[in-house]
This record gives sequence, structure tokens and C-alpha cells, in this order.
Amino acid sequence: MNIVLFGPPGSGKGTQAKILQSERKLPQLSTGDMLRAAIAAGTDLGKKCKSIMDAGELVPDSVVVGIIGDRFDQPDCKGGAVFDGFPRTIPQAQALDSLLKARGRAIDLVIELKVNDAVLIGRVEQRIKESGGIARADDTPETLKNRLAVYYKNTAPLLDYYKNQGKLQTVDGMAPIAEVTKAIAAVIDGAGKPS
Ligand code: ADP
Repeated sequence: MNIVLFGPPGSGKGTQAKILQSERKLPQLSTGDMLRAAIAAGTDLGKKCKSIMDAGELVPDSVVVGIIGDRFDQPDCKGGAVFDGFPRTIPQAQALDSLLKARGRAIDLVIELKVNDAVLIGRVEQRIKESGGIARADDTPETLKNRLAVYYKNTAPLLDYYKNQGKLQTVDGMAPIAEVTKAIAAVIDGAGKPS
């Protein structure tokens, strides 16, 4: 099963993707984590992306489509994957659809974690506090504002893209973590069953 976890920065995609990875053996494919790994490793790709990410802007579609394609072709994705933080633009979603189609696969389900802005800002502020000054370079109140603006402008339109494909399901991302996990499980286990 191929699942897209969808939502604004701080909505809990990463947390829930990790739970799905351990409970359902669906690898978490996080473009943010892959890009941060490239930066930490000092690769050319990492060097190219660092200033873009620090500013809260999106790296070019071709970059993330390339790394997702390579990652998806690893043997552990044979049974599917959880896409976390990808796609973030309509061209990325189109590229993902054709990449999967070429492999005889498709996105089965898109799960939106719905969280309002005030809660998102509070969560990131908490994450900054807890990190004791070693927060992610893009976890600052100013950059978060830009990441949210980029989300609403470039990424939120994907909700209609996937709604039109009949794949979108929404859960309340403001509930406690365990409740969100349960709601996601209900959506996944209900997928494919006649409603
Ligand atoms: P968050 O969901 O908290 O914003 P991520 O770890 O998903 O964090 O992404 C961090 C940054 O990495 C983004 O702000 C962006 O610069 C870059 N990035 C990650 N995924 C993508 C993507 N699919 N397309 C373009 N840029 C991306």
C-alpha cells in the first residue's frame, strides 16, 4: 500500500509516519529527512539545498522527484511506502503518479492531518524550546511563518488534486498522538472496503 501523509509543517506527519513504519512495515520516505541527511553528509546536493531549506522555501521539484524515485526503487518499498513531506507541489504529485504508474503501482490513500495555524506555531515553539538551542535551522518563528505561507500557496492545492482522484481522507491532527494513530489506522483498514 502506498500512502501519502499530508499536512502543514508541524502537523505530525513525521511522528505518524514512523509509527506506520514500525507497525505496518511501510518505509517512511521523508524528503525533508533525506535532504537533511544530504546536508549533513556535505554532498553537492546538500550544499545546493541548504540555503533554500533554511529560508523555508521549496527545493526544486526535479531534486525531490529524483531522490524519491531512487529511494522507492529500493527493495524495502516492494510492499509500498509512506510518503512524508512529498509531494508538496502539483508537478511533484503528477511526477509521483507517473513514477508509480511506470512501475505498475499507484497511491492508494492520502491522509490529511488537519491542524490549525495557532496549534502549529505552538508546537514548533515547543520543539525549539525542547531542543535547547540546537533546533533545526528552519525551526525559527520567522521561518515557520514562511513555511506555512509556502504550504498554503504551493501544497494545499494538492488537497483538491487528491480529492478529485477520490483518495483523500482527513483526520483531526489536533487530537493526542495515540488518537491520531487510531484514526489513521481506521482509515487504512477501511480503505478498499465498500462504504
Ligand atoms: P516540515 O514538514 O516540518 O516543514 P520537512 O522536513 O518535511 O519539514 O521539510 C523541511 C524542508 O525541506 C522544507 O521546508 C523544504 O525546504 C525542503 N523539502 C522537503 N520536502 C520537500 C519537497 N517535497 N519539495 C520541496 N522541498 C522540500
